[in-house]
Amino acid sequence: MKYRSLLWDWSGTLVDDLPPTLYATNAVLEKFGVAPMGREEFRRRFRLPYPEFYEDVLPGVPIVDLEDTFRSAFSESPEGVTVLPHAREMLEWCQERGIRCFILSSMDRGIFYKQLGEFGLAGYFESIYAGVIDKRDRIGEILDTHQLDRSTTAFIGDMAHDLHTAKHGGVDSVAVATGYDPVDRLSANDPTHLFDHLSDFRKWLEGSA
Ligand SMILES: [Mg+2]
Repeated sequence: MKYRSLLWDWSGTLVDDLPPTLYATNAVLEKFGVAPMGREEFRRRFRLPYPEFYEDVLPGVPIVDLEDTFRSAFSESPEGVTVLPHAREMLEWCQERGIRCFILSSMDRGIFYKQLGEFGLAGYFESIYAGVIDKRDRIGEILDTHQLDRSTTAFIGDMAHDLHTAKHGGVDSVAVATGYDPVDRLSANDPTHLFDHLSDFRKWLEGSA
C-alpha cells in the first residue's frame, strides 16, 4: 500500500458544506451591503487562506467582524451539511488497515467539532488540527510531531491550497473533485493524483504497491 498515513481536509473532501457556507457567506456580504453570490461565482472566487477571499470581496473589513455573522448564519442555513458519498466507507477502510488518519482543516473549530460529533466520525482520527488559517504553516510540524514518513504520507483535499500545502510539507497530494475548487483549477495546481471521489482513490490505493 502506497500510503500508511493520510492527512485529510474536511470541507469538500469528507463532508459537503457548500450550501451552508454559501448561505453564511452571503449573509456576511449582505450585512456589509454587497450583492450575494451564486454558487458558481462563489466557487470561482472563494480561496484559501480565506482572509484573502474576504480581502477581495470586503476590502478593509477585519475578519473578526465577520465571524459572528458567519457562524450564526451557518447554523441557520436551510440546507445542512452532509457526509460525502464514500467518505465514511473510506475512513472505515483505512481504520481496518491501520492507515493513520489526521484532520488538517481551516474550518472554524466550533463548527468543525459540532459536525464531527454529529456525524460520529471522531474515532477515525488520531489527531485533529482545525481552525488552521494557513495549512502550509502547520503541515511540517504535524508530520514531525507524529513522526510520519513523508514518502508514505499524502494530504487529501478539494482546493488548490491543499495541494500547495502538501507540496510545502514534502508529501504527495490527492485532489478530489467533490468540493469547492473546479477540476481545471485542481489539475492546474499539479496534484500527485486527481480523483472524481474517494471511492476511486480507494480503488487506486488497493492496487498500489
Ligand atoms: Mg476543503
